[in-house]
Amino acid sequence: MVEIRVVGFSKKIPELSSLLSSFTLRLNAAETVTACVGELEKVSENFFEIDWYSYVSEEEEFGKVLEQKTLNFAHWSAQKHHLSITPIGNSMVLFVPLFSRTKSLGVLVMGIKNDVSEITRGVIDVESFLAFETSMVIENMKLAKELVKKNKYVAEAKYYLENVLNSLKYAVVVEDIYRNEEFSNVPYRKLITDKTSLRPQIEEMINNAFVYRKEISNEIEHDGSFYSVHVVPVELSSGLKVVASIQDITNTKELERLQKINKMKNDFVATVSHELKTPLSAILAYSETILDSVDSLDDETLKQFVGTIKNEGEHLKSIVNDMLDFSKLESDSFPMNFKRVDLIKLIKESYEGLKARAQENGIKFELSLPEHLISAYVTADSRRMRQIIDNLVVNAFKYDDNPSPEVKISLLDAGENYIVEVYDNGSSVPKEERDKVFQKFYRVETMKAKASGTGLGLALVKEIVEKHRGKIWIEGDENECGFKFSLPKKDWLTSPEP
Ligand code: ATP
Ligand code: MG
Repeated sequence: MVEIRVVGFSKKIPELSSLLSSFTLRLNAAETVTACVGELEKVSENFFEIDWYSYVSEEEEFGKVLEQKTLNFAHWSAQKHHLSITPIGNSMVLFVPLFSRTKSLGVLVMGIKNDVSEITRGVIDVESFLAFETSMVIENMKLAKELVKKNKYVAEAKYYLENVLNSLKYAVVVEDIYRNEEFSNVPYRKLITDKTSLRPQIEEMINNAFVYRKEISNEIEHDGSFYSVHVVPVELSSGLKVVASIQDITNTKELERLQKINKMKNDFVATVSHELKTPLSAILAYSETILDSVDSLDDETLKQFVGTIKNEGEHLKSIVNDMLDFSKLESDSFPMNFKRVDLIKLIKESYEGLKARAQENGIKFELSLPEHLISAYVTADSRRMRQIIDNLVVNAFKYDDNPSPEVKISLLDAGENYIVEVYDNGSSVPKEERDKVFQKFYRVETMKAKASGTGLGLALVKEIVEKHRGKIWIEGDENECGFKFSLPKKDWLTSPEP
């Protein structure tokens, strides 16, 4: 066997490599910095005659207590990253610095008895290599410790966050692009277990947030409860996620509803008392005059006064009737007497009934019926149908703001439906308020001065039209206002839909 020797080194190569590998094994098994340094000292005994040793680092010191001078050398060696041998006092001292790529870790200081001239370059190289290996292990050990510490922090932060999220009233879920649940809090899991069928609606919102990459908020009504759902896409280093938060707002909604009802009640009381007061005051004033001066009034004047009392009484009756109708509609006890009736006949009756009123108010009032029709049968409650037409015509009379007012009732033949239009040449209801005028008590602010009213008329009309399976809508702009409603020709009472 060929003997190879490290220049100036007394051990043979095979011996050296087994020494190194057993050192590596022991070093890797070491669990503390002290143990690593101990291994380095032990292996160094193969090359040096060690009298004493000491280890100095920022965090710890062990072994022999060093004098200041030796300590200064140790710091210098640590700074320079230089392995060096220096005579201090009567002995030779070997400084073996341990360092990583970025910083100094510590210095192993050993008092040696060797003759310096015997210490060769090869020995120094091997010692430097062993110090390097020890440094690596110590560095890894520190990194691992830091990692454990960091992991502990992360786990603590996660635990803290989970607790916070669990204590929220909000249900929170985080999902990835494959709809895997990455996190959910207790309120979410409880919500989804209690209301399983709510999940598809939330899922649809999450899908949209992924597709459109934008925040989406919505209110969902489910099983008599209301939920406010907010979904936000979040780009994380691990990919795109969506965070959904769901809040049960049933109580808030209920409160809003009660507040709205309360406001409506107040508005209603104010409007109705005003509406009732006007005709009542007239009735009282006229009756008082009659009582006070019945002897001095001539027959004609008396007749006129009594006539006014009767008209105002009728007006009062119609307001009270509207209110009664409405309360019946609200409580779903609004009896309808559906029959096959001729719409043309009803329109004509309405026209005849209101002709005088138009004349009194200087309104040009017309009727337009399709020439090809002698009758137009629909399934309807004739009294209610008259009520609809009368209401629309009276509104047209009341709100037509044209100096030369014109009102027209028309019947249109439109395939499966008949359409009744009440047209006037005044301004129409502004587009943004067209849905609102069909709500009870709603009156267009700018029109209020034009005529008085309770705001119940159109709400009643719409309910009744819908009970007839028809629809109602508004057309026109300036100088053109058309209220149209459709009614199916089909006899839906005797031949119900398939
Ligand atoms: P009520 O009919 O209960 O006495 P009202 O006439 O004010 O009171 P609705 O018939 O419900 O109530 O009408 C609601 C509102 O719609 C009116 O206040 C008015 O502003 C508007 N409106 C109704 N008809 C017309 C029309 N032909 N032209 C313009 N605005 C109209
Ligand atoms: Mg009205």
